[in-house]
Amino acid sequence: MERLLAGRCFSKEELLRFLDHHGLQKALSQWTSYVQAAYLRGRLKLTGGVERERRRQFPWSRPELHYRCCRCGTGNEKMYPADCIHCSGPCVYCEECLTMGRMQTCSLLLYGLSVDREDTRGSLEGQADRDSTIAKWGLSPAQTEAARQGLAFLAGGNRREPGRFLIWAVTGAGKTEMIFPFIDYELHRGRKVLIATPRRDVVLELQPRLKRAFPDRSVVTLYGGSEERWDQGEITLSTTHQLLRFYRSFDLVIIDEIDAFPYHNNPMLQAAAQRVCTSDGAYVLLSATPPAGFIRDAEQGRLEHVKVPVRFHRHPLPVPRILMIKVMSGWKGRLPSNLKTALQRSIDRGAQLFVFVPKIREVEPTVEVLRRQFPGCSVEGTSSQDPHRADKVTNFRQGNIRLLVTTTILERGVTVPRTDVFILEADSGTFDSAALVQMAGRAGRSKDDPNGRVFFAAAAHTQSQARAIRQIRQMNRLAKRKGYLLEHP
Ligand SMILES: [Zn+2]
Ligand SMILES: [Zn+2]
Repeated sequence: MERLLAGRCFSKEELLRFLDHHGLQKALSQWTSYVQAAYLRGRLKLTGGVERERRRQFPWSRPELHYRCCRCGTGNEKMYPADCIHCSGPCVYCEECLTMGRMQTCSLLLYGLSVDREDTRGSLEGQADRDSTIAKWGLSPAQTEAARQGLAFLAGGNRREPGRFLIWAVTGAGKTEMIFPFIDYELHRGRKVLIATPRRDVVLELQPRLKRAFPDRSVVTLYGGSEERWDQGEITLSTTHQLLRFYRSFDLVIIDEIDAFPYHNNPMLQAAAQRVCTSDGAYVLLSATPPAGFIRDAEQGRLEHVKVPVRFHRHPLPVPRILMIKVMSGWKGRLPSNLKTALQRSIDRGAQLFVFVPKIREVEPTVEVLRRQFPGCSVEGTSSQDPHRADKVTNFRQGNIRLLVTTTILERGVTVPRTDVFILEADSGTFDSAALVQMAGRAGRSKDDPNGRVFFAAAAHTQSQARAIRQIRQMNRLAKRKGYLLEHP
């Protein structure tokens, strides 16, 4: 039981299901004695579900009662009084992590502690060994450089606390291939690897690729409702919520899209992500648009990082062009002529078009205007509230939809070979520079059509637009300077 529990964080109910899953019937029937023995042997840590303390906001104010969920780290704002039959109260429960099972004041939370292990560093220490680890993955020059720097980071120095390494890779750079050498290297040293991503579809898409890349390693895939919830693997692939069931479990934690929902500004998942790494382990963070704090840390030398400024096909990123147009409310059912011309040109060149709008309620009216102006083209709209979203995305992928009007929900993930991107009301506060870069990143992904067209259509020129264009230009310049771009005759 101790061995299986190492690196896990469970409630009592989860413990019992876990023991049952692994066929530990004796431990299951006498679980309190087993837990007590493991605790006394120093192999288990125990806490309540919710911590409470009296705290003053200012030295002169009255002390107030503060609660914090021990599983997800959430504070007072998501705590509600529990109708509790187990204790004499007062008992509160955490709403934030309720989907993982109820955590309340009198719940028991168990953390399996890992045994000390031998230091496995040194098995692949030399640069030559590391280069041979990279060689078999067939990476582009820019990817190779990132992998080399990342491996040097993983091999370097004994750490007291987990290290962090940022890979700032432009959209379409081929992040997945870049992380294979890291996984390979760590597995070689007998260490455990976690890949966490905010999106379930990414988990499902990544699973077969990982299994193909590492055929003789065990891969466990975790998401809400996954069958493998109680299993341990050499490689764990997980959505962010599932991390709440781990405690100092992984030596290498790769976090995809650190800037994407639900990491950004979500203390719960940040707390979970911080807890899953062993004390001498490392984080590799991936992003095309890192949050400002990460950029600052990187520029000031507090965060080791590498930039991958070019796409895998080695063509520069399309630079967005500005289209000055009237605000949408003033269109009166007709497209501004410069926008219409630009759209027509994209249609004429045979592209499929992403048309982004800031708000869900603008999707339908935009679809209507476009249908009227381009009667020969199939125009559809979708948003997070559209029950047919998945079908429409599939249809767009298959080329059955020519123009797809959407909100930022499709800023990531959807890749179509020949696409142009139109961002309407690009001056809206909904679009920060990161969102603009991500949406622009939908164009030119394929090596057969690397020069897609991107337009910021707006009545005003904003800081965010300027910053997005600057960032894209800087990456292109860096790619050119490093010699990553293909030579054009
Ligand atoms: Zn919680
Ligand atoms: Zn209670």
